Amino acid sequence: MAVTQSATIYALASATGRAGVAVVRISGPGAGPAVAALAGALPPPRTATLRTLKDRNGRIDRALVLWFPAPHSFTGEDVAEFHLHGGRAVRESLFAAMAQLGLKPAGPGEFSRRAVEHGRLDLTQAEAIADLVDAETPAQLRQALRQYDGALAALYEDWRGALITALGRAEAAIDFSDDGVGEAEFAAARTQAAQIIKAMRRHIEDGRRGEALREGLRLAIVGPPNAGKSSLINALAQREAAIVSETPGTTRDVIELRLNLGGYLVHVADTAGLRETKDAVEAEGVRRALNQAKTSDLVLLLRDGTIPYTEYHDISPDLIVWNKSDLPGFQKQDGLPLSLKSGEGLAGLIATLSAMVAERLETKGETPALTRPRYRQALQEALASLDHALAAPHDHPELFAEDLRLALRAVGRITGRVDVEELLDVVFRDFCIGK
Ligand code: GDP
Repeated sequence: MAVTQSATIYALASATGRAGVAVVRISGPGAGPAVAALAGALPPPRTATLRTLKDRNGRIDRALVLWFPAPHSFTGEDVAEFHLHGGRAVRESLFAAMAQLGLKPAGPGEFSRRAVEHGRLDLTQAEAIADLVDAETPAQLRQALRQYDGALAALYEDWRGALITALGRAEAAIDFSDDGVGEAEFAAARTQAAQIIKAMRRHIEDGRRGEALREGLRLAIVGPPNAGKSSLINALAQREAAIVSETPGTTRDVIELRLNLGGYLVHVADTAGLRETKDAVEAEGVRRALNQAKTSDLVLLLRDGTIPYTEYHDISPDLIVWNKSDLPGFQKQDGLPLSLKSGEGLAGLIATLSAMVAERLETKGETPALTRPRYRQALQEALASLDHALAAPHDHPELFAEDLRLALRAVGRITGRVDVEELLDVVFRDFCIGK
């Protein structure tokens, strides 16, 4: 990847606001001179060293200074870190001093971007850093770490490697079209493409596990008015770690709350009561509730167990819960009994829900889950090209090769490592097969 001669950038790496410690990071060719100007001689590489930071206006802070000379740094450039006291005046004095030295404030994601440009990370790993920073639950954290370790990159690079081999064989078939070698090479290339198609299909047809785990699973709680939907949401929020609770304006709209359910992020939507209504506003609420149920990953139908069963609005719930088991008229029916008044059955319901969420989100097998629509889209493009490639007439390896190149580009875009040089090398190497 072409690396442009870059400016030296700086940014606060820790959160803004008052804190015990703040971390400021610098990257670029001017990092060393900046450290020397602010903190005196460069400290030994990768060793925390206590220094007094000064500019021409005087002392800024006593801070830990870390020096990571290129290429063994996060970005692959010269990098320095200052661990300062986390006060506003300290930070702003340091930023002013850095601006004086000609350093530029970093743009969004610019450190990770430079890491990708210098080949320190591939795109999926850079995206995993964003996921790590955003992770709110242990499961999200595990998935982000796995991706940061390069699990997805390895999978996609594997496919890319296999595509390059298949393309090499197709190129050989073109060059040896007059003898049996060409035919055999082309057949081998087709078999290989079919195997890649199979693996890619398995990966993308995963019920959106990885994406739902990353973004949070959507659980809709639906049911007739007064079944106890709001009470259930409140009970869940109190029992489990509620991450953000939106203020319920009116139960006629959809309110959402984010829960850590069994270690997974779940967006719980409370909805308007489902019933036939002439009130226009309420009817709109019911319409939204039904829509919510249709677009959710899991639907919990909450019913009042003292009222006989009737069908509701062709909803097919994943779980039916009968509330108000404390009342004398309560009848046991198919599903889970619950009393939000006494709390009986709540622990069981939470356990059942957590298990259902885990079942939906846990990746089965060794292959890491697809985590972003970007990857899905690229793989769908690659699959379309591969399907098209296999449809090429058997005496036209050049049509097959053309489609394979498109598939290769699509997969290469995922990791950001589309590399023409590498492709030519391998094609040339495979050209020699059979000699
Ligand atoms: P929603 O309309 O479905 O959101 O229902 P609410 O949560 O507002 O509850 C409706 C009414 O039922 C309220 O008066 C609650 O206090 C009551 N309620 C909810 N759960 C129970 C329960 O388990 N037992 C009894 N006896 N009353 C309940």
